[in-house]
Amino acid sequence: MIIAIDGPAAAGKGTLARRLAQHLNLAYLDTGLIYRAVGKKVLIVGADLEDAAAAEAEARAMRPEDLELEGLRTDEVAQAASKVSTVPGVRAALLEFQRDFAAYPPDDKAGAVLDGRDIGTVVCPEAPHKLFVTASMDVRAQRRVKELQDRGLEAIYARVFEDMKERDVRDSERAVSPLEPAKDAHTLDTSDFDADQVFQAALDLIVSPGE
Ligand code: C5P
Repeated sequence: MIIAIDGPAAAGKGTLARRLAQHLNLAYLDTGLIYRAVGKKVLIVGADLEDAAAAEAEARAMRPEDLELEGLRTDEVAQAASKVSTVPGVRAALLEFQRDFAAYPPDDKAGAVLDGRDIGTVVCPEAPHKLFVTASMDVRAQRRVKELQDRGLEAIYARVFEDMKERDVRDSERAVSPLEPAKDAHTLDTSDFDADQVFQAALDLIVSPGE
């Protein structure tokens, strides 16, 4: 059982993926966190974020404990992740880890939920369940502001909105594995839904997709 969830930032993918994994007793992988760790490591070593060779080297040297690095959830690191994730060598270096996780989920789980940008299109194109989770720019920016403020971080709506738009454009227009729905994905627009409604709608699609 593999559930592939893709979509832009702050559309509700992470919350949904976590809840589905818990409800269905599946393993969960937040693939954005892996790209964030690579971006963060490039920032730590002080290399240029546009330096493809430096980014690829950090991706190849990734260890599971890098996912625990401090500050991975900040918007600065999100932008760094979005930049390094345009590098084909970075994506290639991280592909095997993600596919292995899906094929051999940890803790003897019977399957996995992966969320990201290219799970249904590239990482797990054979996944039987694919969701593309989206919401309006305004709703996503509001959600991100609240999320950052809840974590005690500074958040200004206009700045968050612009950063998110810039990231959406970069993620959608890059040459390798751009953000786009797989042809066989169900699109869920969560603009007018709360987390419970998103979860129920997704579960309905997974349990009885034809109805
Ligand atoms: O999902 P999250 O916002 O944490 O992802 C951070 C960035 O990592 C995204 O903006 C995107 O550029 C990149 N990413 C990606 N492919 C994935 C997951 C994330 O390119 N599967």
